[in-house]
Amino acid sequence: MSNITNQTLSELIKNIKSKKISSTEVTKAFVERSEKSKKLNAYITDNFSSAIKKAKNFDEKPNFELKLPGIPIAVKDLFCTNGVKTTAGSKILNNFIPSYESTVTQNILDQGGILMGKLNCDEFAMGSSNETSFFGNVQNPIKENLVPGGSSGGSSSAVAANLTPVTIGTDTGGSIRQPASFTGTVGLKPTYGSCSRYGIVAFASSLDQAGPISKNVKDASILLEVISSFDKKDSTSIEFKRNQYSEELTNNIKGKKIGIPKEYRVEGMPQEIEDLWRKGIEYVKECGAEIIDISLPHTNYALPTYYIVAPAEASSNLARYDGVKYGFRSPGENLIDMYEKTRSEGFGEEVKRRIMIGTYVLSSGYYDAYYLKAQKVRQLIKKDFDEAYTKVDAILTPSTPSSAFKIGEKTNDPVSMYLNDIFTVPVNLAGLPGISIPAGTDQKGYPLGLQIIGKPFDEQTILNIAYSMEEKIGFKNQITDWWI
Ligand code: GLN
Repeated sequence: MSNITNQTLSELIKNIKSKKISSTEVTKAFVERSEKSKKLNAYITDNFSSAIKKAKNFDEKPNFELKLPGIPIAVKDLFCTNGVKTTAGSKILNNFIPSYESTVTQNILDQGGILMGKLNCDEFAMGSSNETSFFGNVQNPIKENLVPGGSSGGSSSAVAANLTPVTIGTDTGGSIRQPASFTGTVGLKPTYGSCSRYGIVAFASSLDQAGPISKNVKDASILLEVISSFDKKDSTSIEFKRNQYSEELTNNIKGKKIGIPKEYRVEGMPQEIEDLWRKGIEYVKECGAEIIDISLPHTNYALPTYYIVAPAEASSNLARYDGVKYGFRSPGENLIDMYEKTRSEGFGEEVKRRIMIGTYVLSSGYYDAYYLKAQKVRQLIKKDFDEAYTKVDAILTPSTPSSAFKIGEKTNDPVSMYLNDIFTVPVNLAGLPGISIPAGTDQKGYPLGLQIIGKPFDEQTILNIAYSMEEKIGFKNQITDWWI
């Protein structure tokens, strides 16, 4: 049998169910490899000994009916995990141990999954490179000093380096798809309302969604099936008939209509991204799909709209961190002094920048000019997609305008950092599902991703298209163990 940590989630499930390997063997293998991964800095908190105990318990009383039978999984440190420290990558939550479990992690546990640890991320999920984390940057296992993308950078790095078979991240403006693209992994952001936000540390509530990052499309479909559920505890959770995504996965996409939006051909986009996109178009054609040119005319406004809506919601969500209710507190001479010291010492630079932008655009004199206007433009962006979906079943675009960049390269230039999300944010603003799959490499050998955007609640179609393309592309991730 091939090395345990190289196996995909579906292989591990099969091998555990057929008793070829035990949950303890699997868990120990991932724990051992994770223990050697300090250089990657992918973990904030490990839960290794508890995970091995749980695996032993599973093996003593196995239940092979479950969808994740004794499978160890590390998750982004934005999901509240009962009794296990949850930091959101911030100093202000560095001592926070939740007394409740997020719904998506609970769904994983209910299906036999075992929590292996909490993975590094940008502070409060604000970032595109995992450099804003209080716990330090994460390395991309592809090459030293390369960012793994963000904000789910610990998650993408951990999957690419085989520290965990799969993981869950969150995506507010691209934080699942962009890191997946930078590390040669698959990342899926579900339709807004598919996966419960209960127990996820909030960044921008109208945009945040949890979703899987995995080695291949099949594994993403298995994990989505587990985490997607209607939840009364989240007032924006939506009740709809969820597919058995992995069972209904097919590579037959004959006759599907795939839109190519002309506005995604942005100025200054490297030729290799253009080429990759063209190849992607050829692949879907070979699979029998039909290509249709479409227009999403308000695409240009997506990024500025996002950088008003997201900070506005963040500034409101982050008001709760005041040193009183939970988390870090810096003592002050009086209450106001304590608030001020706690928040100035507890939050990092990027978070403060967002809070300032957010409070500015929500302030009484500017609300109409910025926030209200942004909400109107958001509607227009959504309408563009609605219109496109009268003609096509899905849309194919690049995932990011570049491959992974060097650590430190963009830290002093927030705008250039924000530009990374140019192809991913429109999807969040419109609440749609999107998946990034590895589709090739650039000249340096760094992975590049293609994104497939779907109709609301039609995750199955984008999974099927991704599955068919994956077969054609035959991407092999080139990860060496330089970091061990
Ligand atoms: N990079 C984007 C931001 O910093 C998106 C982050 C995310 O999706 N959580 O806001």
